[in-house]
Amino acid sequence: MDVRNCRGCGRLFNYLQGPHLCPACMQKLEEKFSQVKDYLEDNPHATIPEIAKDNEVSTRQIEQWVREERLYFSDDSPYGIGCERCGKIIKTGRFCDSCRNDMANTFQNAYQKKEAPKPKSSRVTSERDKMRYLDR
Ligand SMILES: [Zn+2]
Ligand SMILES: [Zn+2]
Repeated sequence: MDVRNCRGCGRLFNYLQGPHLCPACMQKLEEKFSQVKDYLEDNPHATIPEIAKDNEVSTRQIEQWVREERLYFSDDSPYGIGCERCGKIIKTGRFCDSCRNDMANTFQNAYQKKEAPKPKSSRVTSERDKMRYLDR
């Protein structure tokens, strides 16, 4: 059993996963989230400090919801949050599209290099291997 102090109220609770919050504080946080969601429907152009002030929630918490893709800035909003890799302003999540693509490619390349080291000279052989495999 993993017993921790709740980050919200300081009480000890059985920690399972996710944020270090007891069930009661989790519940409160979820209520806060739906409050902010409603608020954003009425005020789609609100900035993070405005949302924080009007809903009594920390700017860090709002940013976390944006990073978790639970909140996002509307497409026509001039506001956003910086990509964690290049700093470009994005509407939700952690990275901009090009960084996401970059990282996917880097990962794929690294994966291919590691898992499939094909010698350049044996192309014919590997073609034959492939056909033999398909015949089976
Ligand atoms: Zn708590
Ligand atoms: Zn980026």
